[in-house]
Amino acid sequence: MTAIHSPLSSSMYVGRFAPSPTGPLHFGSLIAALGSCLEARRQKGRWIVRMEDVDAPRTISGAADIILRQLEAFGFEWDGPVLYQSTRLNRYREVLEDLIARGYAYPCACTRAEMADAPFARDGSRRYAGTCRNGLPSGREPRAWRLRTEPGDISFVDAIQGACHEDVFADTGDFVLLRADGQFAYQLAVVVDDAAQGVTHVVRGADLLDSTARQIYLQRLLGYPALHYAHLPVAVNKQNEKLSKQTKADALDVRLPAPALRAALSFLGQRPPVDLVTASLREIWDWASEHWDMAHVTRLRTIQL
Ligand code: GLU
Repeated sequence: MTAIHSPLSSSMYVGRFAPSPTGPLHFGSLIAALGSCLEARRQKGRWIVRMEDVDAPRTISGAADIILRQLEAFGFEWDGPVLYQSTRLNRYREVLEDLIARGYAYPCACTRAEMADAPFARDGSRRYAGTCRNGLPSGREPRAWRLRTEPGDISFVDAIQGACHEDVFADTGDFVLLRADGQFAYQLAVVVDDAAQGVTHVVRGADLLDSTARQIYLQRLLGYPALHYAHLPVAVNKQNEKLSKQTKADALDVRLPAPALRAALSFLGQRPPVDLVTASLREIWDWASEHWDMAHVTRLRTIQL
């Protein structure tokens, strides 16, 4: 099950940007793209782009191409081909079957309505009480597949947010690997692909900090290498909502990349000099590549715009 790495790639920094093509990129996604890219370049590593179109119902047709065009217009250059998660379903199924064969995954018949009174997990989902853990109640049909979790602390040191720990069993409980609508869960897909692509460092928005322990839990179960994490502050609007398609964030304007790139650098605690206000996109990238320092990124999980 362990992903195969060449000796070269196993010692090399591999970072990634993994947008979900649910719409065009906005300022919030630019932060994650820029932070992950600059850190990879700083470490003389590779930086790859993975299209997380595993959630078919949420994927918007044409959005992946728009995202790639936006990245190009903003001066991003990624290494190697873009991996589309929609092409990886057989691999996710193999991994799920392996977990089932090893007794770690089990079918679950519970509906959302039946879990409505369960306590909240940190990420706002409902903690699963384990109703179907020891077999489906009689007469019930399987809907989703869940991972059987055991109590125990998962701890990691995030390069920005510091020491973090979580007991996955206590917090989220047995989490979903294959959803009731037949879609593979983000948690499974992201872990399988990070390992398959030889990713070593994950730099992404702090909204995903609460998913990290579950991902580490799965990595360990699958015998995958441990990753380094850095969670960047997330841009929120005046209502404290993360910028997203749902909160009607403006798409990045490909005709005006320079001001947005400068604003993203400032958001990330870098201090672009005033004369960069009139600089070209190339000059901004040159300055950023030379001066990027993750130590300047604030430890806050959100910053209001
Ligand atoms: N696809 C996820 C998103 O756009 C990011 C996944 C990740 O970076 O782990 O929110």
